[in-house]
Amino acid sequence: MVYLDHCARLSGAELALLRLLPALDEDVEAHVILGENGPLVSRLKAVGVTTEVLPMIETARGLARESVHLSRFPPATLLHTARYITEVARRLRQLRPDLVHTNSLKAGLYGSVAGRLARVPVIWHLREQLTPDHLPAAAASLVRAAVHRLPTAVIANSRSTLGSVATPGLVSSVIASPVELGPSRGTRRSEEPLRVGMVGRIAPIKGQHVFLEAFARAFPQGPTRAVIVGTAMFGETDYEEQLRRQVGFLGLEGRVEMAGFREDVGEELGRLDVLVQASVIAEGFGQVVVEGMAAGLPVVAPGAGGPAEIITDGRDGLLVPPGDVPALAASLRRLAGDEALRHRLGEAARKRALDFTPAAIAPQVLALYRTVLGR
Ligand code: UDP
Repeated sequence: MVYLDHCARLSGAELALLRLLPALDEDVEAHVILGENGPLVSRLKAVGVTTEVLPMIETARGLARESVHLSRFPPATLLHTARYITEVARRLRQLRPDLVHTNSLKAGLYGSVAGRLARVPVIWHLREQLTPDHLPAAAASLVRAAVHRLPTAVIANSRSTLGSVATPGLVSSVIASPVELGPSRGTRRSEEPLRVGMVGRIAPIKGQHVFLEAFARAFPQGPTRAVIVGTAMFGETDYEEQLRRQVGFLGLEGRVEMAGFREDVGEELGRLDVLVQASVIAEGFGQVVVEGMAAGLPVVAPGAGGPAEIITDGRDGLLVPPGDVPALAASLRRLAGDEALRHRLGEAARKRALDFTPAAIAPQVLALYRTVLGR
């Protein structure tokens, strides 16, 4: 199989691929073609996956979704993309895979055309919703038209992702992203201050500003600490600066830890008491939610999109309306004041996380491969 991704940074989709491929190891000979060089290359090689970089010119790779409009698509970008598609198709003809599996939205676009040219069936792995929250209308309709016409089948990372694109007749499967079950968070010592955290790339849609505001409202004073793990990945450095200023406006100096990007998220999760996922839009999936659950943490997440399919409110986590600061603050206060609730939700969360282990997810992917290949 050949896997395509335009990006080689350690963003969510790329980490998901990195977790999936070793789990398919016994049944699939995987070869990855990336559109840029980056940390994903060595990480894939380290898990035994052959990887090559077929560089995509920056104007095409970094093309912002906002500038996607067929009538005013920069001609140079169109030309570069057409050339890139030809190159990928040529490489596919050399490699002669049974299947192409595209891992990012851009790779879905160029990969499914290249797959058609090389006469190889293509599975388009859709990891975000094709809604105005995620994509401007022009880009969404372009992608939707492509998803309907080009690939042989689609994997959606949640029912809501599939719902944003589905039409009758599309061969599709809803398959969650795999998450390893790491060690459970140990028992905390009661004298330690409570630590409430967020993990994820720093971006306005991820809602770190909502989290800070809710934290300040829930814990205007006292020893409780907020931890923000992650970094800006796609140019949102202004937002990161804005968050630092917000800490000052909210009078939270000394109580907020900006931990930066961590390779070992498990270690950070092990030092938290509550995990918050504060996205202001409906996430396609939300791997961080499952990672927190797998660590045995009570997770507060938006009651929309993927997270609302993962968490059953009040049983294995808490759901709040996306972007609702008072509701998030109320949930945080409730959890902070009730150790038994934190414990009960954390235990149930860890059980629920078993549904998402690589061993549970890999057979679902293999089943779709077999369907597409008619085996
Ligand atoms: N992540 C990480 N280090 C960080 C912050 C985030 O490894 O400092 C990982 C996180 O553990 C998760 C992924 O980035 O596996 C984010 O995936 P998610 O599906 O939550 O969001 P996405 O970035 O795909 O929108």
